[in-house]
Amino acid sequence: MLDRRAFLSALAALGFSRALPACSQPRARFPSDPFKLGVASGYPTPEGIVLWTRLVADPLQPDGGLGPATIPVRWEIARDERFASIAASGAADASPEWAHSVHVDVRGLEPDRWYWYRFTAGDAQSAPARTRTAPAANAPVDRLKFAVASCQQFEQGWYGAYRHIVADSPDLIAFLGDYIYESSWGKDHVRKHDRANEAMTLDDYRSRHAHYKSDADLQAAHAACPWILTWDDHEVVNDYADDRPIDGGMPKEQFLARRAAAYRAYYEHMPLPAGMRPDGPRMRIYTQLGWGALARFFVLDDRQYRSYQACPQPGRRGAGSVDVEVCTRIFAETRSMLGRAQERWLEGALGDSGAGWNVLAQQTRIAQFDELPGAGRRAWTDSWDGYPAARKRLLDFIAKRRVANPVAIGGDVHSFNVAELKRDFDDPSSPVVGAEFVGTSITSQGWPQERFDPLLPDNPHMKLLDSRYRGYVRMELTPKALRADLRAMETVQTRDAACRTLATFLVEDGKPGPQRV
Ligand code: FE
Ligand code: CA
Repeated sequence: MLDRRAFLSALAALGFSRALPACSQPRARFPSDPFKLGVASGYPTPEGIVLWTRLVADPLQPDGGLGPATIPVRWEIARDERFASIAASGAADASPEWAHSVHVDVRGLEPDRWYWYRFTAGDAQSAPARTRTAPAANAPVDRLKFAVASCQQFEQGWYGAYRHIVADSPDLIAFLGDYIYESSWGKDHVRKHDRANEAMTLDDYRSRHAHYKSDADLQAAHAACPWILTWDDHEVVNDYADDRPIDGGMPKEQFLARRAAAYRAYYEHMPLPAGMRPDGPRMRIYTQLGWGALARFFVLDDRQYRSYQACPQPGRRGAGSVDVEVCTRIFAETRSMLGRAQERWLEGALGDSGAGWNVLAQQTRIAQFDELPGAGRRAWTDSWDGYPAARKRLLDFIAKRRVANPVAIGGDVHSFNVAELKRDFDDPSSPVVGAEFVGTSITSQGWPQERFDPLLPDNPHMKLLDSRYRGYVRMELTPKALRADLRAMETVQTRDAACRTLATFLVEDGKPGPQRV
């Protein structure tokens, strides 16, 4: 914390009014609402929650328009909407080094209840927002409602899906990657990116995040409940793998500097625990999260530690579609999607889990998807299809250790994919070991459905594949079953479009695999 004199000189440097009220607490006057990017919460535990905000004067300025001053911020979390019963409060510094963002790890709360929180800086106060804690470890839980979202290209549509998510009153939102896009692309744009150029520098990524965060529907979804998050490629650059970008032009050191900038801006804009704060180009975001005896979430990072995509086209890196009989390198045992350390961590965490449902929250598609109609098989090298040995290790472990009710949720492919997970997708007699639900995108455009329809006979484990709609997946978990409603937006060309349930699937306790109802 700054002392009073340092605070006053910091405010003076900002050009704030010196006309301070008589009370002992100095109250800076901001030129405009500093909470324009909203507030957020995340990573609920039985006794705590992460609270986030970022102060800005002008979101599109690289420094948020607040200059070099560190600004003290107060936070309060209450048991009631009117803040009559405060459960905890404190102070935090919004420092320019971290773009005036604030991450508070609140502790000492009661399990399994809703709270309201708000921030105060100078004479400004944020709107109150709602969050909740997780049930106590191993406590019986009747029901958990959560939403699965991913891929929200800002230019390609309005975030109306979030209005429907908020109306569902979920306990939790799982966001599975492509929160921002580094580049402008697609057709039928409804609005523009802040800059036409591709984000490369810390300034670029900060203003891109701030621009996305300025969306009112996105802010409302953050204010409605806690989020858990993982990233995919576009938070940095399309199809990157570990320390390697898709294009051949950027040396490794330069790319790692870019990755460091992108990770830092990501941290600054998300309700992540302070323990996830990046160290240069490294940032550990994989983690686990319990929901009483009912469920455990394993939030994975498929990007930072993966082996490079196999068999790139000449002169190009990144993903492609390969014939698996030509690109046999794809099957190498040494290839990893999660990296060895995360693989070992995941096996330990899955092995220790006593939860009724075990949810793998990750960013791409796990199930095999043959992209060649008829004889032979082509694989998309950026998904788990590019890492078949790693996929087999994971599914073998789940089967051998009899992990209870494994369910994978994912994003990336801008289409609804509902699949049976199998240790051998080419063998019809191979038993189903789990269920996978890949949500469609919030806005990002997908491949045409006509491209998928001829492939469905080659992929009998794929129970539904629909790329026509944007939307999300609404999940409801009870000890007896998981219910998944695929929620499809009529359009993303307007802000207030309708949403309907395209299909509903159930996974029953003890019966792996999705069943359409
Ligand atoms: Fe995407
Ligand atoms: Ca085929």
